[in-house]
Amino acid sequence: MLNLIVKYMGKIDELKDSIKKILPAEAGLSKIELEGPEITIYTKKPEAFFENEALVAKIASELKKRVNIRVDKTMLKDPLEAREIILNIIPKEADVKDIKFSDYFGEVLIEAIKPGLVIGKGGATSKEIIMKTGWTPHIYRAPTSKSETLKGIRHHLYRYQKERKAILSKIAEKIYSEPRSNNTWSRIVCLGGFREVGRSCILFEKNETKIILDCGINVGSNKEQFPYLDALNFPLDEIDAVVVTHAHMDHAGFVPYLYRNGYDGPVYCTEPTRDLMTLLHFDYIDVVVKEGSDPVYIEQDVKTMLKHCIVREYNEVTDIAPEIRLTLHNAAHILGSASVHLHVGMGEHNLLYTGDIKYGFTRLFDVMDTKYPRLETIIIESTYGDKLDIQPSREVSESTLIKIINETIEKGGNVLIPVFAVGRGQEIMLVIENYYKRGEFKGKCYIDGMTAEANAIFTAYPEYMRESLRRRILQNDSPFTSEIFETVKDNERNDIINNGGSVIIASSGMLTGGPSFEYLKALAEEQKNTLIFVGYQAEGTLGRKIQNGTNIIPVSGKNDKTKALKINMRVETIEGFSGHCDRNQLIAYIKSLKPPAKQIIVNHGEKQKAVNFANFISTRLGIRATALQNLDAKRLS
Ligand SMILES: [Zn+2]
Ligand SMILES: [Zn+2]
Repeated sequence: MLNLIVKYMGKIDELKDSIKKILPAEAGLSKIELEGPEITIYTKKPEAFFENEALVAKIASELKKRVNIRVDKTMLKDPLEAREIILNIIPKEADVKDIKFSDYFGEVLIEAIKPGLVIGKGGATSKEIIMKTGWTPHIYRAPTSKSETLKGIRHHLYRYQKERKAILSKIAEKIYSEPRSNNTWSRIVCLGGFREVGRSCILFEKNETKIILDCGINVGSNKEQFPYLDALNFPLDEIDAVVVTHAHMDHAGFVPYLYRNGYDGPVYCTEPTRDLMTLLHFDYIDVVVKEGSDPVYIEQDVKTMLKHCIVREYNEVTDIAPEIRLTLHNAAHILGSASVHLHVGMGEHNLLYTGDIKYGFTRLFDVMDTKYPRLETIIIESTYGDKLDIQPSREVSESTLIKIINETIEKGGNVLIPVFAVGRGQEIMLVIENYYKRGEFKGKCYIDGMTAEANAIFTAYPEYMRESLRRRILQNDSPFTSEIFETVKDNERNDIINNGGSVIIASSGMLTGGPSFEYLKALAEEQKNTLIFVGYQAEGTLGRKIQNGTNIIPVSGKNDKTKALKINMRVETIEGFSGHCDRNQLIAYIKSLKPPAKQIIVNHGEKQKAVNFANFISTRLGIRATALQNLDAKRLS
């Protein structure tokens, strides 16, 4: 049967025909629709599917695609009546926050604090909802702290369901079309983020299919901010798909620009990546506007992007173009971060683009994947790829952090820890919470800026975190809502500074703006305060300058006059909390990959580090490796 499907994959009608052949007559088929890469089967006999588990499993495994079963529209109960029935079926402890009916998808969207109870044992509760109302539940976890971003995104997707349905159908036509030529070659073109950190962007081409892997902005630089899209000798609407590894601006920051300039295809990413990158895009627009400049895209472009996002879970195999299968794998870097695996053709080539990775202990995430069905080429990051880039063990880093914090608090000083809103902030919070529980930290910890909003998004996706943490969140013992953490309102900053004895976790992570910069101005001149860097400081940023010993910085004071701010506060850098591999972890990762890679392309590292690391791989690990430059192209097959 599988061969039959593969042969028929060419055209949508033929795909539908082959599905009809698998379905038994009693399945009550009324319609088959394609929603992007997914197949939706409408039935007049839901009992055929929901009283017979084996049938759904059989279809999904034979088609190797995500299959949605929905009930024929004529059989759906009136939403008002259905709502009552649903609320009676779901146990109270599920704590349902919202129920909405999506006509265009025949789904009921249920947001609950405990989604597991809406699903029920073996899906029993969900099935009961379908059988009694006709509506198929689509279940979301409600965040345990309020998140305006999440609320906005979910509302937006609901509001534009009709448009989204049309978008998905158009995407399906492209995915399930015939390959456009018989060329067997494939290649990548480096559009940004090679021999540098920032503006990551890669074009992957095969048989006239064009896929963009990441599309970021170099936030630290005023000059070379954007990827070399002008080097593409085709209009952006010829791109078939965009895949985003994670939400950081240097990987996802330029995606809305594509929509502003003619692209109208899908963005594949995980659900947390979709939400976190939206948060960061809005913030980026905000910051640029406040600086008095014109942003390269506006809010509307971000919203257009959202309608085109197709979210995938880790390890889920998805056809994203003729002859191209995508799988996202846990990269343990930030919430929802992924390495991208592309299976090309009938297996002629398998490309793994790692994105940013952490192959080592973190309090937030499970260990990243190292096993793949096949691997020919790897594109790997090298942020800490240099010989000297060895980080201390986590134990040492954690105890050093707490020691410096406690020393500062004892003197009545404040500690400022600048963090990316998404990433180190949450990791540091987990460390502080752990030491607090052990009685080794007695201060108060304030969370300022976007970190608080990012925390709320975190609480909606515990399944993307390491098991022990997931369990705590599910049991209502979320460390993010511990009593030692307080979210700061704008008018409270002065009090916090004056009271002393506080740890302040604030974005931006490299002191390029935002609340962390405001705190710096207030804290810098007093010796009793401490500034602790825990994350990567890019070249050219204020963070890097202070790290390198600059002790006077010009800041705008009253009446727009520039004044010199003296850095008298203690400045410390603690390595080991990074969401990136250090050099040893990069090497361990490459060695542990199964199967081993045949060739390695090094990116996402300053020139010297990328080149050194590529040399090391070739000479010491015996794997062909090169640190390509921006605008280089490399043939893969
Ligand atoms: Zn990153
Ligand atoms: Zn990055």
